[in-house]
Amino acid sequence: MVELKNVTVHYRDIGGVDALNNASLRIDDGEFVFIVGESGAGKSTLLKLITKELTPTSGRVFVNGYNLGKIKKRKIPYFRRSIGMIFQDFRLIDDMNVYDNVAFVLRVTNKTRRYIRKRVLDVIDMVKLTDRKKAYPNKLSGGEKQRVAIARAMASEPALIIADEPTANIDPKLSYDIVKLLMQINKELKTTVIMVTHEHSLVEYFGGRTIRLKDGEIIFDGYLEGVVGGDNSDE
Ligand code: ADP
Repeated sequence: MVELKNVTVHYRDIGGVDALNNASLRIDDGEFVFIVGESGAGKSTLLKLITKELTPTSGRVFVNGYNLGKIKKRKIPYFRRSIGMIFQDFRLIDDMNVYDNVAFVLRVTNKTRRYIRKRVLDVIDMVKLTDRKKAYPNKLSGGEKQRVAIARAMASEPALIIADEPTANIDPKLSYDIVKLLMQINKELKTTVIMVTHEHSLVEYFGGRTIRLKDGEIIFDGYLEGVVGGDNSDE
């Protein structure tokens, strides 16, 4: 669950303007939510609050059962592991193959080698890259790279996946497949997904809960119909 209560973020150097102004929202476990808005609307600020990269000027933030204003320092690594991150620039490690890019995040936990091997193969299978598991990132298309990043994000069984413009560097035709994959994960594993995008066509196509930010304010929070049925369905 993600909840913001009357959150304001004021950066000192933007004279008098708030990057986020008294924003409140609640995203329940298992939801799929698009966050949209023009550049400068406050989308990145919102994500940074959720991942605790940023502390609000005022207001409260709760994520996955943690009150981020009160969380103990030693608990932060556990909190972070409850979130899987997906970025527009993929952030894969170039000198590791697909398998190792995914396994890497589990090797820093105290999981057994046997568990890691099974989990890595399972998530690679889920993103349909089993036959590419030994490939290095420079041999993969943008869509394939993002699927590796999705597998990596899922590896530690996070309660929440945050995808920050995941389709920005992908062939538009393949962008739909990336969103479908995120929706499949949301549906089958009940993982909450928050996807930031500025691509209207994707949101219009899939529909579902959409939060629109403008100048630091939530100007819309509701359900859009979508071409495929409005319930974020992938059928
Ligand atoms: P978006 O992700 O929607 O493009 P941001 O959250 O990055 O929007 O930015 C919201 C507002 O806060 C913008 O006016 C931006 O210029 C400002 N801003 C963002 N980060 C900083 C920062 N570190 N220092 C000062 N101003 C910032």
